Amino acid sequence: MTDIAERPTRTRQSSPAKGSPSKSTDAKLTAPSKLTTRQLASLRGLLEGDRARTGMLIDTVTDEMGAFVSARRDTATDDEHDPEGPTLAFERSQTSAILSQSKQHLAEIAAALTRMDEGRYGLCKTCGNEIALGRLQVRPQAPLCISCAERVR
Ligand SMILES: [Zn+2]
Repeated sequence: MTDIAERPTRTRQSSPAKGSPSKSTDAKLTAPSKLTTRQLASLRGLLEGDRARTGMLIDTVTDEMGAFVSARRDTATDDEHDPEGPTLAFERSQTSAILSQSKQHLAEIAAALTRMDEGRYGLCKTCGNEIALGRLQVRPQAPLCISCAERVR
């Protein structure tokens, strides 16, 4: 739907540029956001690195959760004499929180990579403005520009 609405505007914008051939060639290469190919490649590298690390973290934490479950089973018969009982429960809830945060983080990274593939990367999901490069370098998975992100908070 948005595509159809945007197309006439783009055609109208490109026709005055016909006078200068070098400019229209540039326009072809321009992504929806002003990020250069090199910047996009570097941000993609950040996202893919983060995705790999987060994936490994999820594996590790999932293993730990499994270990907690079996540790609990082992101590269940001897609960009163086990001083580690409450600690285990606390650690288990911490680990569980890390696991859900990591899964959410991974989903955000995957969504950012999808936006990149579709050429929508770097544009705020709420207002459509460009997300500042400095913000993307710190949070390459950011779906919102800084002002929209602050409004959500
Ligand atoms: Zn925004």
